Amino acid sequence: MKIVLLGAPGSGKGTQAAFIKQKYNLPHISTGDIFRDNIKNNTPLGAQVKSIMDTGMLCPDDLTIEMVKDRLRKPDCHNGYLLDGFPRNLFQAESLNRFDAPDIVINIEIDLNKIRRRITGRRSCPKCGGSFHIDFIGDVKECPNCKGQLIIRKDDNPETVKERLAVYERQTKPLIDFYESKGKLVNIDGDKQIDEVFAEIVKVLEK
Ligand code: ADP
Ligand code: ZN
Repeated sequence: MKIVLLGAPGSGKGTQAAFIKQKYNLPHISTGDIFRDNIKNNTPLGAQVKSIMDTGMLCPDDLTIEMVKDRLRKPDCHNGYLLDGFPRNLFQAESLNRFDAPDIVINIEIDLNKIRRRITGRRSCPKCGGSFHIDFIGDVKECPNCKGQLIIRKDDNPETVKERLAVYERQTKPLIDFYESKGKLVNIDGDKQIDEVFAEIVKVLEK
């Protein structure tokens, strides 16, 4: 199954992706994670995107699309994929449709006012890729999964969050209509407990 996850920053996309990956054994391809790995490992790609990501704007389409194409060519994607953070604008969506169109697009809906609080309370684990909220785990330093050191993502500061939300409104939100018109879209209410949201997703995927 080829799945695209849509949703604003802070909608819980990444969290749900981890659950879907585990249950359905699909490769979880998060363009944000791939970019962050490149920055961490000081690759040329990382150097190209670092300052852009810090502002909250989108990385260049050509770089991003090539990166995803390469990833989707790997053998573990032959049975399907779970794309998280891609496509993020119409150009990327049209391009994906030409080289490896999704079967289903899951749009996690959430009120924009709730999102700010969700993002500013977020703590991430660079070691296992987990992401947690201080409302649930408390303001701890250690990852509940792997005991790695939790960090606050550099782009989770209020200024950058504002820009990321604006980019979402302007560029990513139109993808909802795009996939709706192709009959691929399913909306999921993201303003519920994590396990309830996941249960909704499972219901949709097993239809
Ligand atoms: P979130 O969904 O929480 O905003 P991501 O981890 O998906 O964050 O992405 C973080 C940053 O990585 C984005 O703000 C953007 O700069 C870059 N990025 C991720 N995916 C894409 C993409 N498909 N196209 C362009 N830039 C991207
Ligand atoms: Zn961890």
